[in-house]
Amino acid sequence: MNSTRGVFSNLFGARDSSTCEVCGNHYDKCLKIRIDGKLHVFDCFECAIHALAPACAHCGCRIIGHGMEANGNFFCCAYCATQFGVEGFQDRMKLGLNDEERRTE
Ligand SMILES: [Zn+2]
Ligand SMILES: [Zn+2]
Repeated sequence: MNSTRGVFSNLFGARDSSTCEVCGNHYDKCLKIRIDGKLHVFDCFECAIHALAPACAHCGCRIIGHGMEANGNFFCCAYCATQFGVEGFQDRMKLGLNDEERRTE
């Protein structure tokens, strides 16, 4: 098995496939994420998010859900998008609200 592992290490460059590229932790069950043909290795989702998740153009928080994109900027929610001058997004549909809830808005 060692020789096979050696071949893969060479294919993917000097990086060890069991070493997190963010914190350097060695872990035998690392996450491997390929983006645009480049392999990224992380020991946990936290490190993967730190390295890969886009930041909201308004508040700077990491976008780990679907997020929103407009004019090349990413936003965590419709509110942040509107603060950036982007219109047309909605955070939630006003469906299923009863009259009592509707009156409080
Ligand atoms: Zn890590
Ligand atoms: Zn935001």
